[in-house]
Amino acid sequence: MNAGPNVPEREAPMAGWEQNHETAGMPQTSIEDLLKAVYGLEAAKKRPSTKAVADVLGVQMASVTGMVKNLAAEGLLEHVPYHGFELTAKGRELALRMLRRHRLIELFLIQTLGLGWDEVHADAEVMEHAVSDQLVERIYAYLGKPEFDPHGSPIPDSDGAVAARSGVPIAHLAAGDEGIVSEVEDEDPEFLRYLSSLGIKIGSSLRVMAKDPYGGLVRLRMGRRRISMGTEAAERVRVARSHV
Ligand SMILES: [Zn+2]
Repeated sequence: MNAGPNVPEREAPMAGWEQNHETAGMPQTSIEDLLKAVYGLEAAKKRPSTKAVADVLGVQMASVTGMVKNLAAEGLLEHVPYHGFELTAKGRELALRMLRRHRLIELFLIQTLGLGWDEVHADAEVMEHAVSDQLVERIYAYLGKPEFDPHGSPIPDSDGAVAARSGVPIAHLAAGDEGIVSEVEDEDPEFLRYLSSLGIKIGSSLRVMAKDPYGGLVRLRMGRRRISMGTEAAERVRVARSHV
């Protein structure tokens, strides 16, 4: 059965979906990344226009237009005039499947290898396309069926259901509001290190002491610590409010 010690048996990536799927020459990875980008914009309540998707993926608008045409033909998304794109049920399922993989891989790397929350996103971006469903489900069981990833994002379940995001951005709180940090943006390692330097992690309790007008600093108290954060950073950290 075994072909020999130098030829390890390997699961085909994306087993269970169309294996080695290509759409008009588009590699599977690009398809999955585009669907994930559209899903991410929808989840952030942003309009998934050609430009917005191109910005997320770091590619030219023309290549997004081309890819979208192919994916629409595949029934993965639809073009909605004056809006942008919308995922079909099939497209959403695939995007959520990638997010499940991504978030479980991040948690796995942190819990088993002891990596920091700023060290896992880039590798998870690559690995999510390559691992088999069987491995992902073994990781899920090994980790004790977690509901959230290390950055506080909900992990979609294996049939594509996902909990609503918790909390609101700190920037949306008013002076006197209190909350517990529930989710942070994970794409930028530098930003996560900045949060660590302020002592912010998932589960930190904080209170808004004051907000400068016109998008200035948000002044926070965390335990005995007082910290200030610019509005841009305060948009990227969500807190579940304990009271308003
Ligand atoms: Zn990530």
